[in-house]
Amino acid sequence: MRLVLHGHPRPQRFDQKTFLQGLRAVLPAQVETGERPPLLETPTDEPVRHAARIGATRVLDPFRPPHHRVVCSNTEHALERDILSGVRAPTGRPPPEGELYDAAQLSAVARDLLPVEERRLDIIHLVLTDRLIGTYQRSDGRYHARVILAGTPHLLSTAGLVEAPARSRGYYAALAQGPAGPGRGALESALMDEQLVHGDPRIPHMMVGYALMAYFWQVHGEAFCSDPHCRLYNAHWQRELIQAQSGGLCDHHATMLHHHDAP
Ligand SMILES: [Zn+2]
Repeated sequence: MRLVLHGHPRPQRFDQKTFLQGLRAVLPAQVETGERPPLLETPTDEPVRHAARIGATRVLDPFRPPHHRVVCSNTEHALERDILSGVRAPTGRPPPEGELYDAAQLSAVARDLLPVEERRLDIIHLVLTDRLIGTYQRSDGRYHARVILAGTPHLLSTAGLVEAPARSRGYYAALAQGPAGPGRGALESALMDEQLVHGDPRIPHMMVGYALMAYFWQVHGEAFCSDPHCRLYNAHWQRELIQAQSGGLCDHHATMLHHHDAP
């Protein structure tokens, strides 16, 4: 089994060394790990078409079911070219403030960038991104931000760690006070212990748990655990995320991880 890490596009915002060290420390020794440049941001022979393909995966209305677009607007195209060339970073925030990408469609773009001979079940491809990704849920008719979309490759969103699990109710109530309230920045510093912020130095450590989910999904066919103290716990709240990623795996998953029959 090999694990290939397609790196984070903005290394100044994400300590990839810490992430990889953390991941290597928990994965079984027989898993070979390798590092490559960011996948979506690596220059292609067709930069105009590539930016258009990514731009077309943007969600225009989070309350409408996904549809495949083949083109994107000139504004979206210009924005993607700027993000891809590093002139600017994605906001990492959901609409209407920022942009959200359809996780499955963005994953399909990433998959096409992998060499055909490497789209195999014995290679785990992790693609780190700072774009906010989401999936549409039919039960409530809207998109929800995600940290991970498992597959070939697995997409892992650092923006998703901050935006997908909900913050405390107190945070939203204080924010709703508008100008009379303490403001987003002050609130975020006051609530450091219970929620992450963009560029948070804890993110690389927390992301190791999600990389483990990708590993378990691909090797054992299950990604999540119901134990809130296991790193595979699918946290819906920020405080649950911090709690789950502050410990290790539960006994059941720790035993599974070191089961040597794994392919
Ligand atoms: Zn577990």
